[in-house]
Amino acid sequence: MRLRNVSGSREKIAESRFVIQEPGLCKGKWAEEFGNTNPIHVEIGMGKGRFLMDMARLHPEINYIGIEKYSSVLIRGIQKMEEEPLENVRLLRMNAEETPDIFAPEEVDRIYLNFSDPWPKDRHAQRRLPSRTFLGRYDQFLKKDGVIEFKTDNEGLFVFALEEIPETKWKIQAMTRDLHHDAVMNEGNVMTEYEERFSSMGNPIYKYIIYR
Ligand code: SAH
Repeated sequence: MRLRNVSGSREKIAESRFVIQEPGLCKGKWAEEFGNTNPIHVEIGMGKGRFLMDMARLHPEINYIGIEKYSSVLIRGIQKMEEEPLENVRLLRMNAEETPDIFAPEEVDRIYLNFSDPWPKDRHAQRRLPSRTFLGRYDQFLKKDGVIEFKTDNEGLFVFALEEIPETKWKIQAMTRDLHHDAVMNEGNVMTEYEERFSSMGNPIYKYIIYR
């Protein structure tokens, strides 16, 4: 998701009280940053932040961290937070490759990957957020009993994600190829921006939950 011509977004991000400017300094100290020891859930590639904020509103006893690579996208999340500040949300503008530098081992309870970029070329496979390379990074900071929840409408990306699992220490806890028609997995489902857009076009939504 890339929005052009969002003027001054870098400056606005640098000034925003909702954005952690130097997340590396919080490594091992996220509880201090939130002022409590509630579980921490992270959405990687949060886009404009609708899912993150809907979840944060529904679950005030959980701390949410949204990570987004592009300033022009993150700025939309900041605008939403300005309209409705949520105490249990922090936003980070950074590349997910650097997550092991900002979270200590066992510091995160759950990771959400929602509608991650497919990177269709083979040579870019390791940029895909459910790739074995990224699963190895998540392994460094997710709690032992933590899970990763991944949703997409992209069948190719989902098949790739499933094929990566046997190459890693992760195991499938649950999965579906049609989330919205799977009564068990769809219970309590909170739709993301992309999910609403693609499912309204008739695309089935794929989801897995993995653990290790
Ligand atoms: N999760 C949202 C947005 C999906 S689009 C939704 O479901 O509606 C995927 C988003 O992930 C884009 O905004 C993209 O910029 C971001 N992204 C992709 N790779 C990333 C990376 N390596 N680090 C951080 N964000 C990334």
